[in-house]
Amino acid sequence: KLSKRLKLVASYIEEGVVFADIGSDHAYLPCYVCQRGTEVFAIAGEVSQGPYNSAAASVNHHNLSSQIEVRLGDGLEVLNENEVDQLVIAGMGGTLITSILKNGREKLGRTNRIITQPNVDERSVRKWFWMNNYHITHESIMEENGHIYEVIVADKGRDTEHVTDENLEKRLLFGPLFLKTKPTLFRQKWERQKEKRLRVISQLKKAKVQDQIKLEKIGTEIKWIEEVLHDEA
Ligand code: SAM
Repeated sequence: KLSKRLKLVASYIEEGVVFADIGSDHAYLPCYVCQRGTEVFAIAGEVSQGPYNSAAASVNHHNLSSQIEVRLGDGLEVLNENEVDQLVIAGMGGTLITSILKNGREKLGRTNRIITQPNVDERSVRKWFWMNNYHITHESIMEENGHIYEVIVADKGRDTEHVTDENLEKRLLFGPLFLKTKPTLFRQKWERQKEKRLRVISQLKKAKVQDQIKLEKIGTEIKWIEEVLHDEA
């Protein structure tokens, strides 16, 4: 049975598309999506032999080899140019997701939608979207087994909203759509993040030579978190 997290990710993949799931592990996600609809095709990419073998075994087990191709390789290197309409990268840190996107930028010619589920460092993914002409169209937050997960979906094209510098920094950190809706789990997440930053500050203040730049940066983020949490949605 597919996790609630991957079901949420799958809900953003449209019917009739060709999509890639990079870092597919057991290929649970493409198997689920291809069982749901016969008009969809998937490429499951894996960099490691073990997960690649598991993915190939799942595809065989479900008799889905006419709809899913499993490929071994690093990031988007397994794709041809202009091959996929949609791209999924889920279950890794945002920095790794960003480096996969950056290294494979030229493969995304016809990719209209990128669906990500960064475990940490969401900011880096949002920044890549901002710098690379994708705009965020959906942001979701959910909890499973005690973890909070964010799913960030971006479609090709510029954001039409006017964005100032400070505003941009907040949108990158918190998420432009979360800032509008502020769901309960989002508030919980940022309460915890605030506590975490307060602890970092008190650690930094104990150092002999204080890192003023870092202190200031974290101080500003705490101020922003308070602003975001205090005014009602
Ligand atoms: N996407 C699945 C999910 O969300 O449940 C699996 C996540 S699993 C934690 C991360 C997978 O990404 C691992 O199987 C790992 O081998 C793969 N991976 C890490 N870096 C990769 C890269 N540069 N290219 C392709 N796969 C990668």
